[in-house]
Amino acid sequence: MSKFAIIGSGPMGLMAGLELIKQGHQVDIYERDDRIGGMSADFDFDGLRIERYYHFICKTDYQLFKLLEELEMSDRLHWTDTKMGYYYQGKLYKWGTPFALLGFPHLSLVDKVRYALHVMCTKGIKDWTALDKENARDWITRWIGPKAYTVMWEKAFALKFFEYQNSLSASWIGTRIKRVALSRRNLFNESMGYLEGGSSALLNEMARRVQAAGGRILLGRGIDEVVSSEGKVTGVRTGGDVEAYDKVISTAPIQYVPRLVPGLPATFSDAISRIENIPVACVILKLKHAISENFWMNISDDNIEIPGVIEYSNLNPGNDPGQKILYAPFYMPKTHPKWTSPNEALIEETIGYLPRLNPDFQRNWVLDAHCHRYEYAQTICPPGFQNMLPPMETPLAGFFMADTAYYYPEDRSINESIAVGAKIAALAAGH
Ligand SMILES: Cc1cc2nc3c(=O)[nH]c(=O)nc-3n(C[C@H](O)[C@H](O)[C@H](O)COP(=O)(O)OP(=O)(O)OC[C@H]3O[C@@H](n4cnc5c(N)ncnc54)[C@H](O)[C@@H]3O)c2cc1C
Repeated sequence: MSKFAIIGSGPMGLMAGLELIKQGHQVDIYERDDRIGGMSADFDFDGLRIERYYHFICKTDYQLFKLLEELEMSDRLHWTDTKMGYYYQGKLYKWGTPFALLGFPHLSLVDKVRYALHVMCTKGIKDWTALDKENARDWITRWIGPKAYTVMWEKAFALKFFEYQNSLSASWIGTRIKRVALSRRNLFNESMGYLEGGSSALLNEMARRVQAAGGRILLGRGIDEVVSSEGKVTGVRTGGDVEAYDKVISTAPIQYVPRLVPGLPATFSDAISRIENIPVACVILKLKHAISENFWMNISDDNIEIPGVIEYSNLNPGNDPGQKILYAPFYMPKTHPKWTSPNEALIEETIGYLPRLNPDFQRNWVLDAHCHRYEYAQTICPPGFQNMLPPMETPLAGFFMADTAYYYPEDRSINESIAVGAKIAALAAGH
């Protein structure tokens, strides 16, 4: 039996903790914030507990389903036939069905066929190795042509990835297309899932089980240093206190690792530092009425600087029909002027867009508003990212690390957090 410290109580840290406890190890989970959950945490939105960032579940989130079953929570998982919209240059179109594609006036019939073929073929890809080294823009353009790339993808890439928009791995974008494309009941119905009680219902149960089995979750206890001696981990330091551990697993964003772990070789820390990230500021509004019937509305409009809005109540209707939840994500590098603008400015900008998306919108529909920020929200995965990722088992004996970058080629999701959490626990326990 070993004594483990886990850094971070997001879904990955909690999963790693659960797995290690099952194997009889001693586990302490250290969390810098005063709450568990990381990016998946909820907050009190004037009486409504809801995630700071939108979360949906897809039909292929098998690791999540397995965990829900193990925790006897499968009955909390609900599915909704969701709708998608595409707001293109001043007009909202239906999206996500063959009829919607056929009726969209900004692509030729040939482009539409190519677009549909691209999605259908991407859905069938099982081995992403070949696409790891491909550039996403070139790959998509080859399939659907330059005109359709401009209409369908260019703005989304620009507003999510900014200076990185033209150097993204095709496999990383491909897995996103596949995940959403496979989350359907049939050709005409997209089907997305949510957890009753939100992601917190799952996270709280994971935390309860960790604690019931003797593990500790130490909130407001950020790790300041992973202490080591002669190439081996000896413990962790929080403030002035050092506690001894056999092994440490970090699930914090890996950009923190070089500073946290001075015992790592410089070449390893340099490899970590080459991995880039984009923050998010995400506005959440509570509205009297829905803006549209869509769960997801992608936006490509010269006058709107967000890639879309997510009307969460069209997925999870909640208990109060008079409260509709809408999220608007502003992804941006920290160098972007908007990153330093106050939350109120981003909230006002979002509200300013709503009359365009729905001409009936009135200011008094807004019941409440918030904006949350997460600095390391989105790893940037350029072509060849597979070989850029340093191994989870580091050269410092007893120190293991992973974060959302290790889902690659998959996109961020709680499903992947759980999968990687289980994987890193097995790796660390085996050494
Ligand atoms: C805008 C947005 C939308 C998303 N949409 C979806 C979705 O629709 N579906 C879905 O499944 N997933 C979605 N996700 C992704 C999901 O939230 C993440 O995959 C998941 O929360 C990552 O969990 P994690 O445990 O790996 O990392 P994190 O949640 O980042 O947790 C890391 C933890 O480490 C802690 N920490 C950092 N440094 C220290 C330190 N020094 N000491 C102690 N603790 C520390 C942090 O406080 C944090 O709690 C979304 C995320 C964002 C940001």
